[in-house]
Amino acid sequence: MKIELKGITESFWEVHLSASRSEISFKIEGVTFTDGISADLNMSRADEMYIISGSCGVNAKMDCVRCLEPAKVTLSGNISVLAGQRGAGGMSQLEGEEDLIIIGDNEVLEMDDPIRQALISSIPMKPLCDESCLGLCQHCGVNRNQFHCDCESRRDDPRWEALNDLKSRVAGADEVSG
Ligand SMILES: [Zn+2]
Ligand SMILES: [Zn+2]
Repeated sequence: MKIELKGITESFWEVHLSASRSEISFKIEGVTFTDGISADLNMSRADEMYIISGSCGVNAKMDCVRCLEPAKVTLSGNISVLAGQRGAGGMSQLEGEEDLIIIGDNEVLEMDDPIRQALISSIPMKPLCDESCLGLCQHCGVNRNQFHCDCESRRDDPRWEALNDLKSRVAGADEVSG
């Protein structure tokens, strides 16, 4: 996503950027975009430097941490960057700063990187398909949202404990009589 700076005479202006799903030219590991990205940015210029701030967002899918099925997420983050042409006044002190963009010769500001960073910063730690997702059974591996298994109930059933108890007592009795 690009911002054209050529011919702009204002000191303050607004830019709306959007890219459809197929136009998005970067990837984020573990994230599948389900929609286009949009960004609303406030631009301001002081001398040859630009300050760009605003927000961006996208709808996406990630793997649910509990059941590994797709979980819908919305990534939205804030953007705050400086931009300037190489060699412009003020640039020498700023070069090497993380949030600095160097403007290309064609006076185009490439915004993919800051947008990608902003989206990455809003990735949820634990995406869930649903707050009440039951996850996978730790014993047999079925998706407990879709199938019912009785692993848990079998494990916790007090009757099994009683039976195990009985078995060990029988084994003990064998030892004595044998
Ligand atoms: Zn889930
Ligand atoms: Zn199970």
